[in-house]
Amino acid sequence: MTETGINGLKEYINTHNRFLIIGHIEPDGDCISSVLSLSYGLRRIQKKVISAIDSQCPAIYEEFQPVSQITFEGDICVEDFDAIITVDSSSPDRMGKYQGLMDKKPNFVIDHHVTNKLWGNYNWLDLEASSTAEMVYRFLKELGIEYDPVLATINMLGIQTDTGFFKYTNTGWRVMEIASELIKQGANAPFNASMVLENNRVQEFYLLSEMAKKIKITLDGTLIYSFITLDMLEKTGCTYEDAAGLIGELRSIKGVETAILFTEMDKEEIKVSFRSKKWFDVADIAIEYGGGGHQRASGCTIYQTMDQTIDEVVNNTKKRMETVNY
Ligand code: AMP
Ligand code: MN
Ligand code: MN
Repeated sequence: MTETGINGLKEYINTHNRFLIIGHIEPDGDCISSVLSLSYGLRRIQKKVISAIDSQCPAIYEEFQPVSQITFEGDICVEDFDAIITVDSSSPDRMGKYQGLMDKKPNFVIDHHVTNKLWGNYNWLDLEASSTAEMVYRFLKELGIEYDPVLATINMLGIQTDTGFFKYTNTGWRVMEIASELIKQGANAPFNASMVLENNRVQEFYLLSEMAKKIKITLDGTLIYSFITLDMLEKTGCTYEDAAGLIGELRSIKGVETAILFTEMDKEEIKVSFRSKKWFDVADIAIEYGGGGHQRASGCTIYQTMDQTIDEVVNNTKKRMETVNY
């Protein structure tokens, strides 16, 4: 439960030799980037590293050659490492099945989510950081690790994706300076951008079109929501992974402050994604349902039917939006 900052992490690295680095389930670009760049950096200083994520690799990242170094959904033997580092994960349940390893060895949490309650034995939490990948960059620089184009490119990925390619409010001068440094060191930012943004399967458009038909707009156009059912996924040839980008489409609509997308993972398991533009705090509401995230992007899973979930979450959001002072 200690916030040790970057210096604590330095000491943790100096006092252990074999690491297990874990990213969160349903990984995004920041998660994959942070796992890969931290692993790469630690190997450079002769540390032994196992990198693991308890989900399948999202299809768009499969062509990102360094991901082959990550064990996706693999079994990890507790004798094979001395210390754990988790990245970009606001709570232990984000570890999936690796959560069970947490009390077997010491763990260090590196994260930037406002909903993180310092759940590690040691923690470095930076709410100002645009991404965990930005924190990893600062840490590797602190260790004096030399960047090459491969490390620069994998480290750049998380900064790009978590800032929405330098569009979101977490895009400040500091992250721009780091991005500039990474490009000087050979980061192939256009490659990353094209992989993430220009790699959609046509089925995602079919899903977008189905989702668009279900859109509801309320509160004078400031709240928008829609849903995706298992039937819609089947009909369009999609998996829930294909739904990940669609919440951004909802937020993009003129006049919208808050967007919510409900995705049916199972009959009574609904993934809820929240996004806001300027003033509504969506981290707070996700926390109420056991989830987490940031003020402008958050999520949770609710174990009820789709109808019950939509009803409850929309009413709750309306109430909160109507009473908020901004
Ligand atoms: P998503 O809507 O899945 O893209 O998630 C948006 C943000 O919310 C990300 O920063 C996630 O880390 C966070 N998030 C999503 N789902 C959960 C959850 N079940 N628990 C904690 N954080 C979550
Ligand atoms: Mn993430
Ligand atoms: Mn992140």
